[in-house]
This record gives sequence, C-alpha cells and structure tokens, in this order.
Amino acid sequence: MRIGVLAVQGAFEEHIDVLRRLGAETVELRQQHDIRDLDGLVLPGGESTVQGKIIRETGMFEPLYELICGGVPVLATCAGLILLSEKLSNDENVWFGTLPVTVKRNAYGRQLGSFETVGDVGDIRKFPEVFIRAPYIESVGEGVTVLSSFEDHVTGVRFGCQIGLSFHPELTADTRVHEYFLSLV
Ligand code: GLN
Repeated sequence: MRIGVLAVQGAFEEHIDVLRRLGAETVELRQQHDIRDLDGLVLPGGESTVQGKIIRETGMFEPLYELICGGVPVLATCAGLILLSEKLSNDENVWFGTLPVTVKRNAYGRQLGSFETVGDVGDIRKFPEVFIRAPYIESVGEGVTVLSSFEDHVTGVRFGCQIGLSFHPELTADTRVHEYFLSLV
C-alpha cells in the first residue's frame, strides 16, 4: 500500500508518521515525477493558497487531478479540504474542485483561531478534533455524506473515496481516522 502525501508545505510529516505506524508505505510528493503507483493520497493542512500555487508551478496539478478523478482514495485535512472544494465562499480560487461542497476559509475567525473538541466522525465515536484557523463546510452537494459537525456547521464529509475534514486527525494520538482512510485503499 503506497500512499502519496503532498509535501510542499504544512503539516505533512505528522500524516507520514501516523501512516507509517499503521504499516503503510509513504511517498513525499514534491515534484511531478513523485506521483506514480499511488494507492492513496493525503492532502495535509497548511496554507491552501501557497500549496495550490506550488502544485501548479511544479506541474503536479494535472497528475494529481487525474488521480483524484480516477477514484484514488483521498484524505484531505484543513487546507487539503480547501484544495478539493468545488467552491469557496470567501475566496475566488478553485483548485481541484472535485468535492461538491462550499467551504468557508478561516471560518472560526481570529478570536477562535485554534481550539479542540471531541466529536463523532462517521462511525468513529468521540474523536479528538483539533482545529487550526480552520475552514468549515457551508453546504454540501448531492451524494456527499456528512461525517462530522461542530455546533451548527459541517466539519467532515465523504464523497466517493474523497474524505474532507476541517480538523487535523494527524495531530492527535488517535489513529482511527487514518485507519478509516486506509480501509478505503
Ligand atoms: N487557514 C488555512 C487556509 O485557509 C487552513 C488552515 C489549516 O490547514 N490548518 O488555507
């Protein structure tokens, strides 16, 4: 099982640690030629605008887009969720646009920039959720399953093999979300 982890910026090392602990082989994706023979893809948190620009500049955009459209399982957290979203309500950019949701960037404002809570993620009960300048999902399109919510907003979805989360499962010791992702691979 070979999982590509986008490694241009942000919290990719933490994802790699969790995936290795679970026995997966990981590949850091920095250049176009890193994108081959992948069974799964992780898009980590960080700064989506920076990540999106680097993906375009390095020529990784097209092969990643094809991989996602081809149905390879994707785990996208925070900035990764933003990269997948079909629409951003407070930003003109659209990156991959493969996940039919509308997302609001930095949705919890500066006052509540970072916080932690505990919630269910699909069938996973009481998962520790770390939010860092997080987006939330304002609306979901047809065929999208809601996996998690916090207060009145959706924070996790699945559409086909794409999982998009507002929070950071890689920053906790709980590996159940990564296990769920690997079960799709
Ligand atoms: N605020 C970041 C963005 O808009 C996402 C934050 C994160 O990935 N922790 O890209």
